[in-house]
Amino acid sequence: MNFSVCVLSSGSKGNCTYITDGTTKILLDAGICCRDIESGLNDIGENIASLDGILITHEHCDHIRGLKTLTKKSDIPVYSNYKTLNAIDYAMATSTKRYAREDFDSGFYIKSIFVQPFRISHDAVYPVGYTLNRGSSKITSVTDLGIVSPNILANAKGSDIVILESNHDEEMLKRGKYPEMLKRRIEGKLGHLSNNTAAQFARDLVQSGTKQLILAHLSEENNLPALALEAVCSSIVSLGAVIDKDVTVEIAYQRSRTALHNC
Ligand SMILES: [Zn+2]
Ligand SMILES: [Zn+2]
Repeated sequence: MNFSVCVLSSGSKGNCTYITDGTTKILLDAGICCRDIESGLNDIGENIASLDGILITHEHCDHIRGLKTLTKKSDIPVYSNYKTLNAIDYAMATSTKRYAREDFDSGFYIKSIFVQPFRISHDAVYPVGYTLNRGSSKITSVTDLGIVSPNILANAKGSDIVILESNHDEEMLKRGKYPEMLKRRIEGKLGHLSNNTAAQFARDLVQSGTKQLILAHLSEENNLPALALEAVCSSIVSLGAVIDKDVTVEIAYQRSRTALHNC
């Protein structure tokens, strides 16, 4: 075993994931309040004080909500492109920019884990997804993206575990009560992935060797866990793969954490 992963919370109200290789402990996004981060970590036998770094994907509130208190309480380094850190500091009156590093885009180590950020298309200043590498094990987290570009696929390929966005059901969004402008934003190139696009992405990932998928950032208004599961699982089954034998698919929820995934 190299990595353990637990999504503490995921959705439009807040996102936070814990990843460790047993030596290095990383938080990926801090979009829930600090108290909930602490209790989520305690629940799996961890705590804030032992974290080695916080990776931030982009500056939207649902990814940084707990960051201000977290950085006040501790001196854990915060990693993101300097443009994102700048936007966070502007929005939250923090001083995360002091952690900016020139080698962010080319990849860097947090102790024993090699972190490789990659660009995604979303309406933020410099949104990224991340792959984390330790030995031959690889984990990818990619949420808040409008399209799956060849570069995103190239980065995520070969991951043992992928946390991927399955935000909305296209029909539910179309018929739902959101204003037209917001609907266009969500389904646009800088918005969020639909179940069908996630299903196509999942198929490519499983073909590249991915064994565990965690569907994340599900909309509470425009999606149902059963619809996301059905879209992704049927796409994988069409490859001849057997769910729960060749590949597992789990939903990450807003109000409860996922199981601890090991690879
Ligand atoms: Zn976002
Ligand atoms: Zn988000």
